[in-house]
Amino acid sequence: MADEVVLHLRGPVLLGPDREISEAWVAGGRILHTRPEVPRGTEILELDGVVVPGLADLHCHLGIGNGGGGTSLAEARAQALVDRDTGVLLIRDAGSIIDTRPLQDEAPGALGEGLPRLIRCGRHIARTRRYLIGYAHEVEPHDLPATVAAEARRSDGWVKLVGDWIDRDAGDLTTTWSGEDFAAAADAAHAEGARITTHTFDEETLPLALDAGFDCLEHATGLTAETTARAAEAGVPVVTTLVNVEHFREYAEQGQRKFPAYAAHMRRLRESRYTRTRDALDAGVQLLVGTDAGGVLGHGIIHDELDELARAGLDGTEILTAAAWAPRAFLGVPGLEDGDPADLLVVPRDPRADHRALRELEAVVLRGSVVHRS
Ligand SMILES: [Zn+2]
Repeated sequence: MADEVVLHLRGPVLLGPDREISEAWVAGGRILHTRPEVPRGTEILELDGVVVPGLADLHCHLGIGNGGGGTSLAEARAQALVDRDTGVLLIRDAGSIIDTRPLQDEAPGALGEGLPRLIRCGRHIARTRRYLIGYAHEVEPHDLPATVAAEARRSDGWVKLVGDWIDRDAGDLTTTWSGEDFAAAADAAHAEGARITTHTFDEETLPLALDAGFDCLEHATGLTAETTARAAEAGVPVVTTLVNVEHFREYAEQGQRKFPAYAAHMRRLRESRYTRTRDALDAGVQLLVGTDAGGVLGHGIIHDELDELARAGLDGTEILTAAAWAPRAFLGVPGLEDGDPADLLVVPRDPRADHRALRELEAVVLRGSVVHRS
């Protein structure tokens, strides 16, 4: 204890969208709202700036390399460090090819060590030949419930089902499962005490996932006024991935010659991305930030995703809510209350006034240790 560095955060400390305290301390890995008793001679490091919870990325693939395929564990660790040093201290992966469990044990030590808190989804589950090659367990409906149950048991309480994909016979996006399949998958996850989310681009998939009781929606580019209202009513959040949706233009170009209907569909989904996102928030849908880093997109892009949310018309408070407070509440991960594990960022100005302040990290504190400083 005598060798421990105590942090004095000179604040303000943002506990929530409209709740703040003027200062706080970090000792024993925890944030404290009152000055702790410390032994004489304890080093106290003063940090000036606005304090916010570590950012969350709810759709991040650790262990998938550029262009697809599983990485080594060392490469997955390097991906997590890139994300961490942009301020991401909480990751819900949205499917990984490799077993990333060993990354959950790395606590902060020397400067540079220590990985974000990781909540794993297991491996993606998709219909046979209806997803990127080599990513998913590819199954048929009769094997779906058992596969969902198995992934629920080996994950950290989340399963991800790929709900739609290009159908080369139809020449367009189509839903890959029946309503009964979605229901059976959700029931299998829930029976294991897990939650289930779905990758979905297409309009037709959303009613099925909502009917089935899915807990979360990834991308959800096919939201209509009707399914937006249903998601809001059911309290089912949407993980944004707008950087990925920007790339729909390239997917459309690649498919243009052989699949013109698909290409036109993807362009429509891309063009409506900002209004759809803003409309969802206005209708009461909880937005959660996800980057879809890993595979096609590189890691370290959370601030690009936040910029996209600003283009969709979200203000700084709404962006910080989607990136920090709401995902922590949704996943049951503490924030900055007295005694919570100290996973926080210090930035020079208030990100509620301008979200770009989150790019200007003065310090990244992970479980009480300063792991990164500008
Ligand atoms: Zn993804």
